[in-house]
Amino acid sequence: MTVTAEGTAKGAAARGPAGAGQPRSAGQHATLRRMLVQACKILASYGHDDMNQGQVSARVPGDDHFQIKAAMVSFRSASAGDMVWAPLDETARLDPKAPPETALHQAIYQARPDVNAIVHSHAAATLVFGALDEELAALSHEGAWLAGSTGRFTATSNTILDFAVATGVADALGSGRAAFLRNHGGVVTGESIREAAVGALALERACRLQLDAIATGRPWHTSSPGDVAAKQDFIWSKSAIRSYWNALVMDEDGKGSPA
Ligand SMILES: [Zn+2]
Repeated sequence: MTVTAEGTAKGAAARGPAGAGQPRSAGQHATLRRMLVQACKILASYGHDDMNQGQVSARVPGDDHFQIKAAMVSFRSASAGDMVWAPLDETARLDPKAPPETALHQAIYQARPDVNAIVHSHAAATLVFGALDEELAALSHEGAWLAGSTGRFTATSNTILDFAVATGVADALGSGRAAFLRNHGGVVTGESIREAAVGALALERACRLQLDAIATGRPWHTSSPGDVAAKQDFIWSKSAIRSYWNALVMDEDGKGSPA
């Protein structure tokens, strides 16, 4: 049995459910778990923790189960042992440690085969922005990435506790990258943990900067369509997002985090 860098046996990951297709390797699941912990630390460092706690989840593409941060654990304190398995099927039994908002993740994964990672948090600027009837604009680099790719869920501001409500969030998200949950928080998706985590940080910063601009009471400008396209191709290319993630992980490692 091989021992990974995080000190857990790869065999432990192999106990996770296999996908609907061929069985996934234990290594893929172990990598996912390690990256989920890294994402939790990064999200904590960028203000995504609150007392009510959000979640981050991820799946190996094509799997019919995903891993999600357990209930009653903050992003800051989450460790590999706090990642629990959850089925995409909302009628299947849940791990008792799964968070109450697991249905939110199930509904999005069911609706979006291209999504392999989800961050849901109650980050402050995202939450305030979601309470305004404002559209996210290309005011900042982050806004240029996410403008036009955000939905708004308004059916309830309460915790998403059941699948029927969660499907409304998936509908609000549509084919977009993120959704505001009015008076609740935000949801950011990605093809990978890197993309979802960097996206959550970007959404929070885009909202903060636009709120700052609105607060001045003065007219403000946005990037031109040509600049938006150029920024999406260069600043937010997949290789750039990978480099941002790597830098964020290095920053966390420098703090002596257990991830
Ligand atoms: Zn929530």
